[in-house]
Amino acid sequence: MKTERLKELARERVEILVASALKEKDDELAAKKAILAKKIAMRFRLRLAYDIRQLYCKRCKQFMVPGRNSRTRLGRSNAKAVRITCLRCGHVYHKILRAE
Ligand SMILES: [Zn+2]
Repeated sequence: MKTERLKELARERVEILVASALKEKDDELAAKKAILAKKIAMRFRLRLAYDIRQLYCKRCKQFMVPGRNSRTRLGRSNAKAVRITCLRCGHVYHKILRAE
């Protein structure tokens, strides 16, 4: 099988795992799926979509489920950015929302 095809399959697998981790009610299981997804991505050197990369805390590497172990707040002045706080290590990011 060609590498490109393998990468495509791996990417699909990662996306399925992340989607399933987001829906998972068990935090531990969600974290396991998220870690597995990241391992696959690393093994195949996949460049993950921005939306997926956003889900991993850059400091403690924890998978963050919006509304569960991360907090999202809209910026004060304009609604073009949100602040995401990792509730485990307290790291705060700014996520810039796509313009229009
Ligand atoms: Zn964190």
